[in-house]
Amino acid sequence: MKIIADYHTHTIFSCGKKDTRRHAKGTIEENIISAIEKGIETIGISEHGFDHYTYGLSNKNFEIEYNMIQEFREKYPQINILMGMECNILDDKGNIDMKKEYIDKFDYILAGYHFGTKIKGLKGLLHTMDNYIFGGVFSRKYNTKCIVNAMKKNKILYISHPGDKGRVDIMEIAKVAEQTGTGLEINGYHDRLSAEMIKKIKHMDINFYIGSDAHSPRKIGNFDLAYKIIEESGLDWNKVVNVKK
Ligand SMILES: [Zn+2]
Ligand SMILES: [Zn+2]
Repeated sequence: MKIIADYHTHTIFSCGKKDTRRHAKGTIEENIISAIEKGIETIGISEHGFDHYTYGLSNKNFEIEYNMIQEFREKYPQINILMGMECNILDDKGNIDMKKEYIDKFDYILAGYHFGTKIKGLKGLLHTMDNYIFGGVFSRKYNTKCIVNAMKKNKILYISHPGDKGRVDIMEIAKVAEQTGTGLEINGYHDRLSAEMIKKIKHMDINFYIGSDAHSPRKIGNFDLAYKIIEESGLDWNKVVNVKK
């Protein structure tokens, strides 16, 4: 299998203001070198979004990262280096934590649902608690609406790990993904999309992406779990945008 691109990788800038190496372990350059060694054509650096209580890209690190990526493009011309972000989906109104003044600096954005984000309002808080404690048994509708409206309101390359950390109606999400052209991820770390989810939507006109969600350089391009899920689901490999069989 040839990996064309890995759009979902984190570096130490995902740790927050301080380089704790707790959340992610590698530098941007280490991620790039690992991708080159693995023969990957395009590497995307996609730090966690700004509005998280404990981790994610800070304003200061955003500037540093942006400049470093420009420099590494000259230093490593053998690979395409993209600056992305894995934004947090904040509510059911389509809001994600991308800053308007920064959007043009990013080559693409992903968006996903995570715990610990700066959600607004009691409703979001209650659903987060349900997702955290009960896996979202009472929040399927709400979680689905969060993703659907995020896709409608923002230009997102793909939704990362759909259905992880809270149940969703994948059919509903897939229908809107078809309309908006938003891709859906088969994550190389979290088992979402799952084979069961893909079976329900594999006939639809959707771009599927595999993302390693690497939090250390050696895990760049680690797609094995996703390959297994795809085989099990019977999804046509031609619908998986960033690998070539
Ligand atoms: Zn994520
Ligand atoms: Zn991630």
